[in-house]
Amino acid sequence: MRGFHVGFEPGHPPVRVQIGTGARHRIGEEMTARGLGRALVLTTPEQVAQGETVREELGAAAVGLFSRATMHTPVEITEEALKAAANADCLVAIGGGSTIGLGKAIALRTDLPQIVLPTTYAGSEATPVLGQTADGIKETLRSPKVQPEVILYDPELVATLPAKLTVTSGLNAMAHAVEALYARDANPLSDELALAGLRAFKKGLPRVVADLGDLRAREETLFGSWLCGTVLAQVGMALHHKLCHTLGGSFNLPHAETHAILLPHSAAYNAGVAAEALAPVAELFDGSVGGGLYDFAASLGAPLALRDLGLSERDLDRAADLAIKTPYWNPRPIARDAIRTLLQNAFTGTRPD
Ligand code: NAD
Repeated sequence: MRGFHVGFEPGHPPVRVQIGTGARHRIGEEMTARGLGRALVLTTPEQVAQGETVREELGAAAVGLFSRATMHTPVEITEEALKAAANADCLVAIGGGSTIGLGKAIALRTDLPQIVLPTTYAGSEATPVLGQTADGIKETLRSPKVQPEVILYDPELVATLPAKLTVTSGLNAMAHAVEALYARDANPLSDELALAGLRAFKKGLPRVVADLGDLRAREETLFGSWLCGTVLAQVGMALHHKLCHTLGGSFNLPHAETHAILLPHSAAYNAGVAAEALAPVAELFDGSVGGGLYDFAASLGAPLALRDLGLSERDLDRAADLAIKTPYWNPRPIARDAIRTLLQNAFTGTRPD
């Protein structure tokens, strides 16, 4: 079991992290250490059994289970969950980014402490960032209030993640690290975090795919998830995250799959201009940034084409327009024609160079 405290920036609350088999049984201990005694357990409808197990283990220290967490954190669901949290003095979120997002949304409004048990690799637990949706519009905000105080990474919890989500969620985490390497505000610490995260997934993900119950490899990839989530909180993201946000928000594409498909294409888009920053990625992935990431994804059975997610070819023009509508920083200037070509290649699943 690895256990440590981290706190990177002024105003960023210290975070307690534990990684190892059995970490999920430490909720009570962490609550006691903080003088907390009334937890509301959060999860999704699909993970209600995992939520029940946590509630049972907490016994009288659980005031309830709210199992309606939803992707993109709609405010109507947050409002219902706030009622369920009325008697709670802390939140215990067991799930992926959707469940963790709900915990963050409640914490933003109540400042309740959060103990989080991640079950995917998305990395939200390691960031003070919340995306929430009101009236169909998703807004992202940053606040120390939403950063979970305790993260318990238990490989046995992520071992139930199906193969497809395992791969796409892992690639989602890797995308944070790839964009961190060429971030405008990258620094030596963020570079090291990003590279360590990429190495953890390069080594661990093929082993997990070969045996979903390989707890050592699951632990290695969860550590990678913490590294990639942490670096996401440290530096600004660019083209890749912008495109995923556009496709997820405006075309309702699934989060992890969209990241997985776009990553080789957005990395290839920036590879020439950010060659030095991305040199370690080329080195890790057989000499080519975009092609290497594409081959890695393909070798793991990841989806490769946006058309397989239900996007229609006639949506690509609008997607390109939306992606360039609000200016944002990217190492290579954002040109509409080049973005349209990128989207076409991602649509058909063509391997980038
Ligand atoms: P998710 O939480 O939506 O989970 C996807 C599905 O898999 C759900 O049905 C869930 O119940 C199920 N699932 C999760 N873990 C499982 C397990 N171990 N076994 C079986 N089923 C499991 O997916 P996600 O990709 O983790 O999260 C996506 C959301 O997180 C998006 O809304 C995204 O914007 C947000 N996110 C936020 C940040 C941030 O820093 N704010 C970072 C990354 C992602």
